[in-house]
Amino acid sequence: PPVLRFDNVCKQYPGGHVALQDVSFSVDAGEMLFVTGHSGAGKSTLLRLIHLSERPNRGAVLFGERNLLKVRGSRVAMHRREVGVVYQDHRLLADRSVHDNVALPLVLRGMRRGEAGRRVRPVLERLGLGARGNALPGALSAGEQQRVGIARAVVAEPRLLVADEPTGNLDPTLAAEIMALFASLPEQGTSVLVASHDLGLVKRMRKRVLVLDHGQLADDIAPEDLADE
Ligand code: ADP
Ligand code: ADP
Repeated sequence: PPVLRFDNVCKQYPGGHVALQDVSFSVDAGEMLFVTGHSGAGKSTLLRLIHLSERPNRGAVLFGERNLLKVRGSRVAMHRREVGVVYQDHRLLADRSVHDNVALPLVLRGMRRGEAGRRVRPVLERLGLGARGNALPGALSAGEQQRVGIARAVVAEPRLLVADEPTGNLDPTLAAEIMALFASLPEQGTSVLVASHDLGLVKRMRKRVLVLDHGQLADDIAPEDLADE
């Protein structure tokens, strides 16, 4: 089965705003795709439904065989362990080293520090942070900080990685670098869903693109259909 499936999902916030309207799509294991659209199109809402910070009003969100409508109480935390999240502002702990920030999801799962360390080091290496483990986040460049955020999101080997405007605070060169890094992750078997309003940047990555327009899925573009620019 797909890793993720949206089936006619509608989301309306209290107060009246329709954020998503009849949205359907599915994501295969190891697939990378982008979701793009104007500000307010529904991108963040779509991601919030996946990590259960919001619930749909109608339709179903399926994670593997799991119907997220039925995930309640303590099972919400268990579900979130299988979804890695990268934030625009990376949300690193300023008083903990890079190593400890990345180890945190493992330590929170009850892993002993020695074992967590053995898992963290290769992830830092893979993200080009091998020499930065002892640094505090404040000593790093913006691009490095965002790579730490990605390392923390992938260290526990989630089935799906979601990122909300992960390059929003970066200059175009760094933004392209970070997107390329996301594009390299599916080789490790993780599916990746990245929200970005930057359509030009997204198109250059040559991956599948979902286009949201006022809460509706206006387009689902296959990589081979992205026009050359
Ligand atoms: P995007 O991420 O594409 O900018 P959002 O998902 O944040 O879009 O927003 C979609 C729509 O839902 C917008 O009209 C936005 O104002 C509205 N919205 C988002 N979050 C909330 C909320 N918590 N309460 C009310 N309206 C919201
Ligand atoms: P998340 O971490 O869940 O993606 P955000 O950092 O995007 O949340 O937003 C912080 C909070 O503000 C969320 O609870 C979200 O629902 C709310 N919010 C976002 N956009 C709007 C909006 N247009 N109107 C009201 N609340 C909003």
